[in-house]
Amino acid sequence: MRRAYIGLGANLGARGETMRAALRRMAELPSVSVEQVSSFYETPPWGNTDQPPFLNAAARIAFDGTPHELLADLQQIEQELGRVRHEHWGARTIDLDILHIEGMTGADDVLTLPHPYLTERAFVLVPLHEIAPALCIHEKSIVAYYNAIDRTGIVRAPELFAPYPLALIAACDEAGGIGRNGRLLTQVPEDMAHFRRTTMGGILVMGRRTMESLPGWRALDGRENIVLSRTMERAEGFQIVCDLAELWQLLGRLVYEAERPIFVIGGGECYRLLLPYVQRAYVTRLAGTYEADVFLPPLTDFMRTERHSGKDCIFEIYERV
Ligand code: ADP
Ligand code: MG
Repeated sequence: MRRAYIGLGANLGARGETMRAALRRMAELPSVSVEQVSSFYETPPWGNTDQPPFLNAAARIAFDGTPHELLADLQQIEQELGRVRHEHWGARTIDLDILHIEGMTGADDVLTLPHPYLTERAFVLVPLHEIAPALCIHEKSIVAYYNAIDRTGIVRAPELFAPYPLALIAACDEAGGIGRNGRLLTQVPEDMAHFRRTTMGGILVMGRRTMESLPGWRALDGRENIVLSRTMERAEGFQIVCDLAELWQLLGRLVYEAERPIFVIGGGECYRLLLPYVQRAYVTRLAGTYEADVFLPPLTDFMRTERHSGKDCIFEIYERV
């Protein structure tokens, strides 16, 4: 297996979705595993500046085979995702470039390694710097190239920051309360079953207090359990991340290898922190009020798309508009 860095770019259509689809397809290639993905950055167009802004990202992969086979695989993905080759430096649905393959340099008619843009374009250096600051190209580190380049106009827009759409799942009383004294307000068996059914097989992201409220502090079975905590060091059955950057890195490894839904399961602080990245919210409405001390943040920018009544509670789904 060799390690390589791939640059992704898109400036037409549903850019974020196309980039996610490209990453999933890369991960599905038998010869490739996606190890890490940067945030998505919005960048001003290069060359022909009369075109929409780009989304750019970088990914670290491990692959088997020759560089030319890898290039052919990437071009196949570009084709499948509807890339139409118009003009050099022109608008495109998706562009997948091999930025660098460890231990390989050279150029022929179809492939130049490292990629000639790598050391001189901010839209390549900014995402690459996020995942590989210490990488050396022509005996100079990415961080050195990065510090020397003009990065004007490159932003990490909040809704594009996470390369993964998150779901939120919560149960609220009639006042919007979700917890009291570090515990759930109540345990409605019908809602517990709904939670289990909805999240089974997925990835759960929770705060430390939510983790400590799980029965016996045990990870929930059949799901990956991730705790977002600045202070915790380890807990059996859980993966701990200390900030969002670490969370995205871990999710990058988990999600692109096998796509699984990711659920933010609480508590209040975790919901607030991750809400900007949430696409869909599963909300259970409990009857009555329970003098909560923690509340679900308001789902502004969301629209209710589903609502059905159970025996004891109402189940709703919201989608970001
Ligand atoms: P852009 O230069 O804007 O990425 P294209 O994606 O159309 O434009 O690429 C043009 C050609 O660049 C491809 O047909 C490919 O053969 C060649 N090429 C050379 N080196 C590389 C590389 N490292 N990664 C990807 N394509 C490369
Ligand atoms: Mg290209």
